[in-house]
Amino acid sequence: MRKGTLLVLSGSSGVGKSTVIAQVLEHRPDVYFSVSCTTRPPRPGEVDGVNYYFISREEFQGRIDRGEFLEYAEYVGNYYGTSMTVIREKLEKGVDVLLDIEVQGAAKVREKLPEAASVFIVPPSFEELANRLRGRGTDSEEKIRQRLDTARREAKEIKYYDYIVVNDTVEHAAQEVLAILTAQDCRTQRRIDQIEGV
Ligand code: 5GP
Repeated sequence: MRKGTLLVLSGSSGVGKSTVIAQVLEHRPDVYFSVSCTTRPPRPGEVDGVNYYFISREEFQGRIDRGEFLEYAEYVGNYYGTSMTVIREKLEKGVDVLLDIEVQGAAKVREKLPEAASVFIVPPSFEELANRLRGRGTDSEEKIRQRLDTARREAKEIKYYDYIVVNDTVEHAAQEVLAILTAQDCRTQRRIDQIEGV
């Protein structure tokens, strides 16, 4: 049976990944978006079980010790991680899966599941990124500075990704991610078994 496609999306904090993902899911409601666990407190409007599973550091450590994560990473002082069980189950059932994870996590996924494809979403410029982070109004100036430093460091990892999408407008970025999902589905290795006589 055809397995699902695993698509890893990374991009600097504030680049608008969540909005792009929301738009992708509107067009492709059959795609499963993996909800991560985090020790970061929820931002206003974020809902437990929808944006993240918000858990304590102790709970997170317990899950690391039990080997429940496909990958996890520490990012700006908090833990973030992807549960293994659900992802495996969805892919086996042929469901396409989207992960929104940072660069260390993406590297681990590439190592463990080499069939995964990865996309790095970039802002039109660093200046635009700083404006977007400030405009969000949810983080202190110190946190914003940390996130921008992290973004600069992360940019060095872009070369390991399969695709780059520029988030100039959400619609355009979402269309490109949708196109990548379609392209992945058309890969020879995924379709060759269905062709007679080859
Ligand atoms: P934020 O705090 O802005 O929601 O997320 C911070 C960063 O953590 C983002 O770059 C996001 O992609 C990443 N992230 C979210 N969930 C996970 C996860 O499960 N694993 C890893 N490695 N990174 C994650």
